[in-house]
Amino acid sequence: MELYTKDYTLPSGQTKPMTIKTIETQHTSGVYAKRDLVIVRGEGATLWDEQGNEYIDCVGGQGAANLGHAHPAIAAAISEQATRLISCPEMFYNDTRAKLLAKLTSLAPAGMQRAFLTNSGTEAVEAAFKFARFSTKRTKIIASMRGFHGRSMGALSATWNKKYRAPFTPLVPDIHHVPYNNLEKLATEIDENTAAVILEVVQGEGGVHPGDAEYFQGAQELCRQHGALLIIDEIQTGFGRTGKMFALEHFDLQPDILTVAKSIAGGVPMGATLLGERVAELAPGIHGSTFGGNPLAAAASLAALNALEDEQLPQRAAELGAYLLNELNKIESPLIRDVRGMGLMIGIEIKQKVAPFIAALTERGILALPAGLTVIRLLPPLVITREQLDRVIEALTEILNAE
Ligand SMILES: *Cc1c(COP(=O)(O)O)cnc(C)c1O
Repeated sequence: MELYTKDYTLPSGQTKPMTIKTIETQHTSGVYAKRDLVIVRGEGATLWDEQGNEYIDCVGGQGAANLGHAHPAIAAAISEQATRLISCPEMFYNDTRAKLLAKLTSLAPAGMQRAFLTNSGTEAVEAAFKFARFSTKRTKIIASMRGFHGRSMGALSATWNKKYRAPFTPLVPDIHHVPYNNLEKLATEIDENTAAVILEVVQGEGGVHPGDAEYFQGAQELCRQHGALLIIDEIQTGFGRTGKMFALEHFDLQPDILTVAKSIAGGVPMGATLLGERVAELAPGIHGSTFGGNPLAAAASLAALNALEDEQLPQRAAELGAYLLNELNKIESPLIRDVRGMGLMIGIEIKQKVAPFIAALTERGILALPAGLTVIRLLPPLVITREQLDRVIEALTEILNAE
C-alpha cells in the first residue's frame, strides 16, 4: 500500500520506493523468523496491518500486552512523563520511580520489599543469578528441562532448548538442569553448594506446562533446608496472565527472588528483580544499569499496574480463561493431544507440527504463537472480549477439523 512505501535513499544517493518488508529484510540482523505481516496499529486485543486488515491478537506482544494495545491511561502517563523528565539514572532519586517501587512491592508476595529495575526479562534473570551468588557465596544454580529464562549468557545458561544454547558454548558454569515437576530429581541435585533453584510456575516457551502444588511446595522446602534461594520466574505468567496478579498466588509460594518483565509496563521495555528477606543486603556498585529505573518506563509501569487493578484484569483472565479452556476441550478433533493452561495462558498440543495451523489461523484473522514444535499457544491481551474469543474458538474448531 502506497502509504507505507517509503522513499529509500541508496548509498549512491539515488532514492527508490521500497516496501517496509524489503527495508527490514535488508537491514535487520536476521535473527528473527519473520511472518509476512506489517503491523502498524492496535487497540485493545485488535491489530491492523498496513493494508487495514484486522486481526484478533492472541500473540499479545509475546506476553507484553496484557493491558491491550493503545491503552489510554498508559499513553497519557508516558506522554506526561516525556514532557517532564525521561533520563534520570539511579544515582539520583526520582518521584515517578519511587511511586512505582512502592506500588510494585505492594503487589508482590509479603516480605518482598525491594526491587532492582531492569529493561527486559533476561536482565531480571541475570540480576537474580548475581544476587543469589552474592548473597549465598555459592555458585551452583539449578534450572529445569524445557525451561526458558532468556537469551543473555547467564539466563541462556539456565534456558533448556539446545537450539538456543549450542551455538554459544561455553556458557556460564555450574548451572544444571533437572526434569520439571519432578521433586525426586530436584532433591538429588540440590546440595550445600546450591545458590538457587529457578522455576517457572507455568513453563511458557517450553510448551505451556503448569507445575503441581506439591512440586512447588516441595521445591520451596528443599531450598530452605539446603540454604538455597528459590527464584520464581514470572516474566511470562505475571501481571494477571494466569488469573491472579502473580501465578505463585495459586500455590501460596514465598520465593526469595521473583523475576518479572513483559507486561510490567504496558508494553514499554522494563523488568524487575524483586528481593525477599533471605537475600542479603547488596553492596553499592556490585550491579547496575544505565536505563534501569528509567522514569519513562516507570510512569508506564505505574499506569499499567493501576489499570490492571482498576479493570480487575486478573479476575477477567481467570473467567475468560476458564471459558476458553472449557470450549477448547469440547473440540472433537483427532489432531488434539492435549489442551492445558491457566487463565489466559493456553496451550493446544497437537499431533502434527503447528506451523501450518498458525498460518491457517492468520488467514482467518487470528494471530497466535507456537510453543515448541507441536503446541499452539494463546496469550491474548486480558482485555480481549468474549465475542473475540468466540471467533478464536470457531477458527480453531475449523482448522483442527479440516482435512
Ligand atoms: C520471555 C521470557 C524471558 C526473557 O524475557 P526477555 O524480555 O525476552 O529477555 C525470561 N523468562 C521467561 C519465563 C520468559 O517467558
